[in-house]
Amino acid sequence: MSETLFSKIIDRSIPAEIVYEDEHILGFNDINPQAPVHVLFIPKIAIATHNDIKPEHDQVIAQLHHAINIYAKEIGEDENGYRIVMNCNANGQQTVFHIHMHFLAGRQMLWPPG
Ligand code: AMP
Repeated sequence: MSETLFSKIIDRSIPAEIVYEDEHILGFNDINPQAPVHVLFIPKIAIATHNDIKPEHDQVIAQLHHAINIYAKEIGEDENGYRIVMNCNANGQQTVFHIHMHFLAGRQMLWPPG
């Protein structure tokens, strides 16, 4: 499996502000936040893009969503609401090829997202 920035965050070879962790999922602050709260939630197993999600990943994808729910409730943003985004490949402007859900909260989001 190829190394990415996020696999290095998982193995702690580069630092990150980790705000959530369980057996399968890691959540850490985005280095370039686009909202008062901007956390990246990633599975600890490497899946390069949304296109690479297969039926065998059903459980970890559910765990990713459960982790986000736990965190949103923990920081008191569950009822206010938030946005979760996963960028895919060039048109989606994906830059790190280890799937990650952007969790954005703490302000009114706009639509269309641009
Ligand atoms: P994407 O463009 O969807 O692939 O998102 C990659 C995200 O990773 C961007 O929002 C970056 O700001 C963020 N990022 C890049 N390097 C780091 C880092 N060292 N720690 C935390 N977030 C990072």
